Amino acid sequence: MKNLDQIDPEIAQLIKDETVRQRDKIRLIPSENYASSAVLEASGSILTNKYSEGYAKKRYYEGQQVIDQIESIAINRAKELFGAEAANVQPYSGSPANLAVYFAFAKPGDNIMGLALDHGGHLTHGWDVSITGSFFNPIRYELNPQTHLIDYDMVRDLAKKHRPKILMAGATAYPRIIDFNIFSEVAKEVDALLCVDMAHISGLVAGGAHPSPVPVADIVTSTTHKSLRGPRGGMILMKKKHRKAINKAVFPGLQGGPHNHTTAAIAVALKEAATDEFKVYAHKIVENAKHLAKHLMEQGFKLVSDGTDNHLILIDATTRGITGKPFAKALDTAGIVCNYNTVPFDPRPPFDPSGIRIGTPSMTSRGMGLPEMEQLAIWMNRVAENIENKTELEKIAGEVKELCNKFPAPGIPE
Ligand SMILES: *Cc1c(COP(=O)(O)O)cnc(C)c1O
Repeated sequence: MKNLDQIDPEIAQLIKDETVRQRDKIRLIPSENYASSAVLEASGSILTNKYSEGYAKKRYYEGQQVIDQIESIAINRAKELFGAEAANVQPYSGSPANLAVYFAFAKPGDNIMGLALDHGGHLTHGWDVSITGSFFNPIRYELNPQTHLIDYDMVRDLAKKHRPKILMAGATAYPRIIDFNIFSEVAKEVDALLCVDMAHISGLVAGGAHPSPVPVADIVTSTTHKSLRGPRGGMILMKKKHRKAINKAVFPGLQGGPHNHTTAAIAVALKEAATDEFKVYAHKIVENAKHLAKHLMEQGFKLVSDGTDNHLILIDATTRGITGKPFAKALDTAGIVCNYNTVPFDPRPPFDPSGIRIGTPSMTSRGMGLPEMEQLAIWMNRVAENIENKTELEKIAGEVKELCNKFPAPGIPE
C-alpha cells in the first residue's frame, strides 16, 4: 500500500493492524469470511470512479461500454450458479436488498411476516427498531419452545390469520436447515409473496451443502460477503415475472448509482463459487461445524437445538455459570472472536444475553479441518474455566496465533 502509506499513514497503519488481527485470530463470527485476493482486487479497482444509474442498455449516463458488460456477467453468473430466472446485483447490501422487496410488493401499514429477531430472525424481517417494523405491520413467528426449531404450525396459523403481503423466511442465528417447501405451501395458501433471505447460507446453497430456496421462492435475497465469500454487497434472485417490480424498487426506488467495483467483485466471487473447489469448501463448512458442535458438547457446553445442520452454532453459556458478553470478551482476549447472542426464549437482556454465536466459514476458508475444530473446543472450554484469568487467556491467544500462522487466510498477506 505504498501510496496509502505516504498519503495517510494513520489509516494505512490501522489497515495493517486489522490485517494482523484477521491473520492471528480465529474468527468465528458466522457472517464473516475471508474474500479472495481476486475479489479484493476487483473491489479496490477504478470501477469505483464510474456512475451508471439504471440497468444495462438503459442508463442515465454515457460511457457504459465496460460497465454494462460487467453487470451483465455478474447477473448471468448469479442466474447460472443458483438456477434463478432473473437477478439484480445492485443492492448495496443485504438490508437494502430486503427493503427493495418490501418497497416493490407492500404499502406502508401492510402486514409482513418474519421470524422474530430474538428467535434468530434479522432486523429487516420486521423488528421494531428497523424501518421494516415501523413502516409495515410486522407479524412475527417464533421457534418451538421444546425443539427450538421454527414453529411451522405457528407460521401457518399466523399467516392464515393475518394474510401478510410478504412472508419472509431466513435467519441470522438459526443452526438448522429451514424447510422452504413448508414456507412455499403456506405462502400459496394465503396468497403471500414468499421471500427467502439466504444471506447467511448462500455459500452453502451455492455449493450444494444446504437445500436451495430458489425453486420454491418468489424472491431470494442475499448478502454476498458471508458464506458466499464475495465483497460486501447484496443481490436479489427472482422469478422472471417479478423482475420489473424489483428492478424498479432497487433503482430508482431506493438507490442511485450502483457500486460498480462491488458488482465486478461479485462477478468474481460468483465465478469462484461455481468451481468444484467451492463445493468442497461449502461441504467442509458444515462438516467442521458439526464436528465442532460435537466436541463442544463433549467439553460440557449446551448448544441450542443440541447441534447444527449448517455453518452456525449457538451456545447457551449460562449452564457453565457465565453469560454471553463476558464469555465473548474473554474469548476475544484468548484470540477467538465471536459475538454474544440471545438464545431462544432468553430470560436475559439483549446487551448481556445467555449465549454466543459462532460459525465455521472463516476457519474453513483457511483450510482448517476436524483436528482444528477439536483443538478449538478444548480452547473454548479453557476460556470458560478461566474467564477472569488474564494470564491464561493470553497464553491461549499465543497458542491460537501459532495455529493460525500454519493456515494462511485468503486475501491476507503472510
Ligand atoms: C446479514 C443479514 C442481512 C443484512 O445484511 P447487511 O449486509 O448487513 O445489510 C439481512 N438478512 C440476514 C438474514 C442477514 O443475516
